[in-house]
Amino acid sequence: MEKLILIKYGELTTKKGNRNQFINKLSENIKINGKIIKKRDRMYIIPNNFDETINKLKKVFGLQGIVVAYKVNTNTEDIKNGVLEVLKNENFKTFKVETKRANKNFEIKSMDFNNLIGGLVLKNFDCKVDVHNPDVIVHIEIREDTYIYTNEIKGSGGYPVGIQGKGILMLSGGIDSPVAGYLALKRGIDIDCLYFDSPPHTSIEAKNKVIELANILNEYSGNIKLLVVPFTKLQEAIYKNVPSEYNITILRRMMYRIATNISNKYKVLINGESIGQVASQTLTSINVINSVTNFPVIRPVACLDKLEIIEIAKKIGTYETSILPFEDCCTIFVPKHPVINPKLDKCLEYEKFNYQELIDECIDNIEVITNFNKDFKDLL
Ligand code: ATP
Ligand code: MG
Repeated sequence: MEKLILIKYGELTTKKGNRNQFINKLSENIKINGKIIKKRDRMYIIPNNFDETINKLKKVFGLQGIVVAYKVNTNTEDIKNGVLEVLKNENFKTFKVETKRANKNFEIKSMDFNNLIGGLVLKNFDCKVDVHNPDVIVHIEIREDTYIYTNEIKGSGGYPVGIQGKGILMLSGGIDSPVAGYLALKRGIDIDCLYFDSPPHTSIEAKNKVIELANILNEYSGNIKLLVVPFTKLQEAIYKNVPSEYNITILRRMMYRIATNISNKYKVLINGESIGQVASQTLTSINVINSVTNFPVIRPVACLDKLEIIEIAKKIGTYETSILPFEDCCTIFVPKHPVINPKLDKCLEYEKFNYQELIDECIDNIEVITNFNKDFKDLL
């Protein structure tokens, strides 16, 4: 009896045409030590280390289910022995058997086989059948070989990262943008991150925090780059030239311009805006800010409540880092009364200073970080 990991794909693979692409991308994304066998409707993994591999697989998008299965030859005797062997390690009082017979050459029908194996289990263990809420379900998948397993671990769902190409995530140190990044990755968008850094107005800790967040997101991707934009001069120019109530509006228009300027490698811009959360995220603000670009922008958390965003942040492991107290560049110089319904003509009037040169300077001096500092927490 051979022990292996059996992977169930998302339902998406049932779409015609993209199945092979989906499977290939998925196996590319599964970076584990061991052997991967790709099949049309399942993937089999023979890992060097089971626990380590399962923990990694839980963070791979495009997987519906992960099970540790035992492979036996497809004949009644071997299956019976296999089931007894598997159940020896289980602690249960009630059970049911679920047979799936994909191999129609196997002569016994699924229902009859359930009964046959059920009888065997009753005879060998002190237990009862419970079809509604059993302690353990004995799954028997009869294919060319037969796979026996009990527990199924829920996969992360979604599409394999990268199947949709690449996007650029505006990543701040807050709660929302890492969640937006996670949700984009889950839809199959590979991401790089873009952080606007304004030293000395923002501290090195604030930057390290963003590095750490990119590092956590990278566990779901594996090839994230963090682009750090030196934003200080442009930000100072905004505060010098723009009336304070429009500071944030213009600041965000500049961020969008810079993101658009570096966008030739990317198909979409992603950010953590949530409708109505702050003055710059009213629909009027979003409209005026977004009007600097034709580039598509997606806002995965736009329609979520803050509490719903926090729930996801906790689940994916970014929350604890996000709530560390270091300021980001939007929270310093925050005006007392930011405009809630900004006017486009006013923005154009306030942008009469020479910002293009400063934007070019920002872009020319972007710092690219790929080697994330895994010991960031130790520095605090
Ligand atoms: P977050 O919790 O993600 O920081 P927020 O609620 O604080 O968001 P804002 O500060 O208005 O909202 O920012 C809205 C979005 O703009 C952020 O979610 C992020 O995508 C982007 N953003 C804001 N500040 C920065 C920054 N310094 N660098 C990169 N992106 C930023
Ligand atoms: Mg923020």
